[in-house]
Amino acid sequence: MDKKDISLNISLVVPVFNESDTVGVFIDKIEDLFKSETLISIEFIFVNDGSTDNTLEQLLEYQKGKHHLKIIDLSRNFGKEAALTAGLQAATGDVIVPIDVDLQDPPEVIFDMVAKWREGYEVVLGRRVNRDSDSWAKRSSANWFYRIHNKISDPKLPENVGDFRLMGRKVVEALNKLPESRRFMKGLFAWVGFRTDHVEYARAERVAGETKFSGWRLWNFALEGITSFSTDPLRIWTYLGVLVSLCSFVFAVIIVLKVLLLGTDVPGYASLMVAITFLGGLQLIGIGVLGEYLGRAYIESKRRPIFLVRHVYEPEI
Ligand code: UDP
Ligand code: MG
Repeated sequence: MDKKDISLNISLVVPVFNESDTVGVFIDKIEDLFKSETLISIEFIFVNDGSTDNTLEQLLEYQKGKHHLKIIDLSRNFGKEAALTAGLQAATGDVIVPIDVDLQDPPEVIFDMVAKWREGYEVVLGRRVNRDSDSWAKRSSANWFYRIHNKISDPKLPENVGDFRLMGRKVVEALNKLPESRRFMKGLFAWVGFRTDHVEYARAERVAGETKFSGWRLWNFALEGITSFSTDPLRIWTYLGVLVSLCSFVFAVIIVLKVLLLGTDVPGYASLMVAITFLGGLQLIGIGVLGEYLGRAYIESKRRPIFLVRHVYEPEI
């Protein structure tokens, strides 16, 4: 069927964590943007990710004001990835768009995404053409992360693409079937595949409030990404081990020859210390990497739920 003029229900999946400054602005902006659209209806799925301010109360106020929004209240802060998962599971729309509440993902872009979807694409990525709104440190670390990740992981992550994207129902159903409890959504999005195109947009500044991702949190997030989609960091130790053994073998031959030809050589304290500390360090790093994976396998093996819901507030209309 031609998708050009069929009516369309869009689910906006919005994780919120201490966003009392932004939820109101966000809802007003979206309603304003879509009010004259006759073919498009919007379903808001807010996931309250353990906010400690009055984000939930504000959302409930809006819901009472006859706005069509569903609120999933998680029992604590489970992190954006888990909150997104909760939202995707609850979304009923024909197409689903995860979007940040701080308006850094400009909602106008959704129209371009829908146009692409109507052309037949099942996933339409939002690609940032500028990262001016991010700090230098965040930009360059993101750059490094993508480089390393894409060298060793399969599938590759598209660069400058966040969670902001449009996905058809089938894509989200596929995502919902993935069983893992540690969820690196960008990787999972890429893993499910489907016919994909992108639209470009300029990433805006946060309208209000502050970012929830500190440097340390981003670092852990990057580790999560790499260890979720590649076992190369484990494998590298085999090769490194072979290389170091070869070197020490050559070194041993040199020492033996030297002793045979030139007699006993007492000095060697420095080279001994270097070898001991170098190898000790190398082994510790190796054990650390092993531990990282073992830890993840351990947590995964517990099969705990990804999130817990305190209450779901269904829309009143
Ligand atoms: N968020 C969340 N749980 C968290 C951290 C963030 O649901 O533990 C939400 C947050 O409310 C926002 C989105 O994820 O809607 C993006 O967060 P933020 O703007 O802080 O990240 P940044 O844009 O700086 O990467
Ligand atoms: Mg933001």
